[in-house]
Amino acid sequence: MRIAIMGAMPEEIAPILKQLGEYKTTSYAGNTYYEATYKGAVLVIAYSKIGKVFSTLTATTLIEHFGVQKLLFSGVAGAISESLKVGDLLVATKLSQHDLDITAFGHPYGYVPEGAVYIEADKELITLSKQIALQMDKNIQEGIIATGDQFVANEERKNWIGATFGADALEMEGGSVAVVCDAFKVPFFILRAISDAADMDASFSFDVFLEASAKESAAFVMNMVDAIIEKNV
Ligand code: SAH
Repeated sequence: MRIAIMGAMPEEIAPILKQLGEYKTTSYAGNTYYEATYKGAVLVIAYSKIGKVFSTLTATTLIEHFGVQKLLFSGVAGAISESLKVGDLLVATKLSQHDLDITAFGHPYGYVPEGAVYIEADKELITLSKQIALQMDKNIQEGIIATGDQFVANEERKNWIGATFGADALEMEGGSVAVVCDAFKVPFFILRAISDAADMDASFSFDVFLEASAKESAAFVMNMVDAIIEKNV
C-alpha cells in the first residue's frame, strides 16, 4: 500500500519525518518528496508550499507520479466555530473554496459549472478517525472546512465564510486537495489542528502555536496510518 501524508509547510511534516528517521528524498516539479517504508507500507510525504495552486500540484504529483492510493493531510487552520480552540483537532467532513466566485452569473459561492460547492472526504477514513480518537482518549470534532488563497485575520471575512459555507474552520489547501483526490477517486482525509481564530490576532497566534498544533495533527495522522495498515482499510 502507498499512502501519502501531505502538509503545506515544513513545520507540518517535520514531526512525521522525525518519527520515521530514514527516508529517500526525491526532487520533482520544484518540490521535495520523502519516501519511507513503514510497517510494510510505503509512505510518501511532502509539504506543498502554501495555497491552492501549490497544493493542487503536490496532490496531483503524489497520485500521478508517486502512485499513492490514499492521501492524508495534516496541518493547521484558523477556527470559525466558537467550539474550536487553539490545539483542537478538526476532521473535515467536506470542503469548499470560499474565494471561488462567479456569482455574477447567478451561481452560488464556491461553485463553477461541472464542479461542486462541497467535496466530501472519505467516510471510511472519518469512521476510522473516530475509533482512533476513542483509543487515544482524544477529543476530535468533525466539520466543514473552507479553503481560499487568503490568510484570514479579519472577523468580518471569517463570519462571512462561516455563514456562507457553514464552515467550522478555514485554511488554504484542503479544498484544492479535495478536488484533486475526488477527480482521481483517491480516498482522502483532511485533519487540521487549530492555530488561531482567524481574527485580528491571527498572525500572532499562528506564529506562537504553529509548531505545537502541527505536532498534534501529525501525531494523530500517524496513528491513522498505523490503523490503515493494521486493519487494511
Ligand atoms: N507564516 C507563514 C504564512 C502562513 S499562511 C509565512 O510567513 O510564510 C497560513 C497557513 O496555515 C496556510 O497553510 C493555511 O492553510 C493555514 N492557516 C492557519 N490559520 C489560517 C488562517 N487564519 N487563514 C488562512 N489559513 C490559515
